[in-house]
Amino acid sequence: MVHEELLARHRAVLPSWLALYYEQPIEIVRGEGRRVTDGEGRTYLDLFAGILTNAIGYDIAEIREAVRAQLDSGVVHTSTLYLIRQQVELAEKIARLSGIPDAKVFFTNSGTEANETALMLATQHRRSNQVLALRNSYHGRGFGTIAITGNRGWSASSLSPVNVSYVHGGNRNRGPFKDFSDAEYIRACVADLREMLATATSGDVACLIAEPIQGVGGFTTPPDGLLGAFKEVLDEFGILLISDEVQTGWGRTGEHFWGIQAHGVVPDMMTFAKGLGNGLAIGGLVARGDLMDCLTANSISTFGGNPVSTAAANATLDYLLDHDLQANAFKVGNQLMDGLRRIAQEEPVIGDVRGKGLMIGVELVEPGTDQPSSRAAARMMEHTRERGLLIGKGGQGGNVLRLAPPMTLTEAEAEEALGILADSIAATSAELAR
Ligand code: PMP
Repeated sequence: MVHEELLARHRAVLPSWLALYYEQPIEIVRGEGRRVTDGEGRTYLDLFAGILTNAIGYDIAEIREAVRAQLDSGVVHTSTLYLIRQQVELAEKIARLSGIPDAKVFFTNSGTEANETALMLATQHRRSNQVLALRNSYHGRGFGTIAITGNRGWSASSLSPVNVSYVHGGNRNRGPFKDFSDAEYIRACVADLREMLATATSGDVACLIAEPIQGVGGFTTPPDGLLGAFKEVLDEFGILLISDEVQTGWGRTGEHFWGIQAHGVVPDMMTFAKGLGNGLAIGGLVARGDLMDCLTANSISTFGGNPVSTAAANATLDYLLDHDLQANAFKVGNQLMDGLRRIAQEEPVIGDVRGKGLMIGVELVEPGTDQPSSRAAARMMEHTRERGLLIGKGGQGGNVLRLAPPMTLTEAEAEEALGILADSIAATSAELAR
């Protein structure tokens, strides 16, 4: 079969550590709206691509037209050494949306590069290579970003160019503060931050970087206000706050346009990537102008902010705003969350349903315990796929199902997904009980 032949060729020439989902990995050959078709003609409702790439869905006419117009000009890219109109327009929009005073924007090709640049700016500005990150975090796989990634499975290198300390506040449901109320949890995390600064650093730390909801870490959702409470401490020391909005940006969390807004604070920098180009490679950061301008180097990136990617990003951002997809994320996200919480009442394999808007985590546990169940998550991935639904997984134990659909997901599609999820959970529970 074509598919098996492709899989064998993939395994022969691509690295063994390149993860593929599913016992029989799929090749997606067509997409439309929230649905994709694989090489064998099976269609799936895609509840994962929204965060990864397709923030608003597949084959959106406005984006196709914007990209085609740029390609038709004959200029895919020339160089960032020339003026690029699309880039300036996109930067103006993002600077305005950021809420950061006197903001400037820099474009990269990925979230990793965006966070590497953020680290470079913060350490240069503060003349310190000490940085703080949250436990259970994921910020990328560059040499600096691996160092600030506290998620054990992804933190492959200990040979770090930055001096990193990890603070509490990453995984609300695990660790020593898990049984605390939200207010107690915030107090304990802030006390930990203070104690860390006083006893484990020289105080002249460059920055703290945090995901407002941890993505790869399993959509762990801290109490609102935690990062705002952190910022009060950071301000006493002049430490910069960087919000990694690679997964939480663009209104996905429903209540807010940026995830950090739930914490009642404006950060010094935000990084972004993934869905902004709706499939085309783009990332970047937005920061206070004085911070952005603190580097003396001429440039950083050959392709970052190229005309095709920025054309796609402008069209994506306009579409998101024109169709008020943040409001849709809030409405359909709550529908999914309510449905999942109803299913959870019947199914002890579900330990927690959490998240915001269209960023929903379902933590699976060994029934009757709070032990992470990676085997249940692995079976759920297969059952949902067999029934025509694509979802993701994450968390330290790979035991958290992640739902992050395109932000155009309809109520009817959410209902369809809930039906498949309920059937798949029932099938998984029956297998575990055997
Ligand atoms: N930050 C976060 C929060 C992410 O989820 C990711 C990707 N999973 C990155 C940074 C890195 O982005 P990229 O894969 O585009 O380098």
